[in-house]
This record gives sequence, structure tokens and C-alpha cells, in this order.
Amino acid sequence: MLLRPASPRTTLTLSDRDAQPPRQLRRNDDLKKELEKELERLGELQNLLYADRRHALLVVLQGRDASGKGNVIRRVFGACNPLGVHVSSFKAPTEEELLHDFLWRVHEVIPSRGMIGIFDRSHYEDVLVVRVRRLAPPHVWQPRFRQINDFERMLTENGVVVLKFFLHVSKKEQREQLLERLHDPTKNWKFRPGDLDDRELWSEYTRAYRDAIRKCSTPWAPWYVVPSDHRTSRDYMITKIINEKLSSLHLRYPRAEPKVLALEAELKE
Ligand code: ATP
Repeated sequence: MLLRPASPRTTLTLSDRDAQPPRQLRRNDDLKKELEKELERLGELQNLLYADRRHALLVVLQGRDASGKGNVIRRVFGACNPLGVHVSSFKAPTEEELLHDFLWRVHEVIPSRGMIGIFDRSHYEDVLVVRVRRLAPPHVWQPRFRQINDFERMLTENGVVVLKFFLHVSKKEQREQLLERLHDPTKNWKFRPGDLDDRELWSEYTRAYRDAIRKCSTPWAPWYVVPSDHRTSRDYMITKIINEKLSSLHLRYPRAEPKVLALEAELKE
């Protein structure tokens, strides 16, 4: 296995070195081709998931600014039929959302059976940005680790498969990506003046991510820390983990009713 799920006992340094791909991928000249194969397989498995209708797949993507969440959505899930995929982006909560518990807006967009739901940021922001920027006191965000674990457990007991990926980029790579965004007129419209503020809180975010990943990587909803300085290996690892999980579900196409099968003979006549 290329990447093991995190566990409460994992030592998570989240150092710049950890953002480099594993050696066996770095040395693999055929990685692009292998990624293409995995993507094709993902397309097939998604079709099966959709037809089978017994499970949903929830993919949580977390990462610092410019860590590539958008790229993963485009490149990996671009292999799927858009009909079976739903992307939800989580921004700062609205006034109404703040009047509810923090999982209210999340529960509403959990994928239904047959669907793949992708979270671009997620309920984890409620133990990350909320903690780092002190948007709520510790007695509010600390119990959320347990609440998240309970919530995710309930989801998995109800047919939702949960996979969580932290796209880990180095500080240097983030700088390069941010500079590219600022330089490129097709991308710089996305930038807002405060967008560099989180970079100054790098080590505070590291601490918050470490806690969130260790406390909430559970047997039912594992966290994977994906080295993300190199795009092909990042996409390859994510696609492979999803494919392995979907394959383990033994998905199958439902059998057509005898009446439908009889239609073939009728049409041939
Ligand atoms: P990028 O593509 O660089 O990741 P983005 O498009 O995801 O950017 P924004 O459009 O700036 O990011 O919106 C997301 C912002 O909303 C983030 O700063 C995030 O921390 C914030 N946010 C998300 N959920 C919450 C929350 N529960 N409480 C406070 N802020 C939140």
C-alpha cells in the first residue's frame, strides 16, 4: 500500500519533506500512463456505484490555499460521469447557518446512494479556521472532534463510504502556486487582499491539521495525508485509494427484470 491511513498513533510532522511523493512514485517514468488507467477504472467504478445504488461515496478534500483541491476535482473526478457527481464548496457560514449546529449545512449535501459527493473544504473547517482564527472558544470547537466522529460513523452505518484527503503542500510550493495565480490574468481574479493572511499562520494551521487528522482518522472514515507537491503522483495516490475502496464494495449491476429481458427478443423480431 502506497499510503496508509493516519491513526491516532501516527507521528504527523507535516513538514515540507512530507510533501514530496514516495520514492517509488518519484522514480516511476510510467506514472502518467498508470494514472490514466486508474482514471479509466474510476469512471467504470462510478458507473457501477450509480447503477448499484447501495452505497454513496463522500470524498472530503482539505488543504491550505493553493494546495490543489480544485485541480484534484477537475483532473480526478473529470473521469466520472457528471450526472453521478456532486461538488459542495464550504465557505464562511451564512448568518442562517450560524444559527444551526455546525453539521447542519453539511448533512444537507451528503451524497445519496449511487452518488459521489466531493467536499471542497468541509465540516473540518469548524476545527481548523475556527480554532486558528479564534472564531469560537475552545469549549465550542474541542467537542467537535467527537461530534464529527459520531456523525461520520452514523453516515457509514447508513451506506455512505467516507474517504478524507489532506493535500499536503510545502510552504515553498504554496508560494510558487500563489505567485503563479497572482501573475496569471486568468487566475488572479480569484485572489483577495486577505488571501496571504493564512500563510502567516502556517504553524498554527499545521497544529490544527495535525490534531484534526489524528483525532478524526477512524476505521470508518480514514484520513490520508497526500504528499501534494507533485501533481501526477498526488492524483495517482488519490485515485488509487478511491478505486481500491470502491472495488472492495463488490458493486454489481442490478439484474434487469424478466419482462425487460424479454424485450430484447421482441425487438429482434
Ligand atoms: P482556495 O481555492 O484557495 O482553497 P477557496 O475558493 O476554497 O480558496 P474561499 O472562496 O476564499 O476559498 O472560501 C473559503 C473560505 O471560507 C476559507 O477561507 C475558509 O477557511 C472559510 N470557511 C469555510 N468554512 C468555514 C467555517 N465553518 N467557518 C469560518 N470560515 C470558514
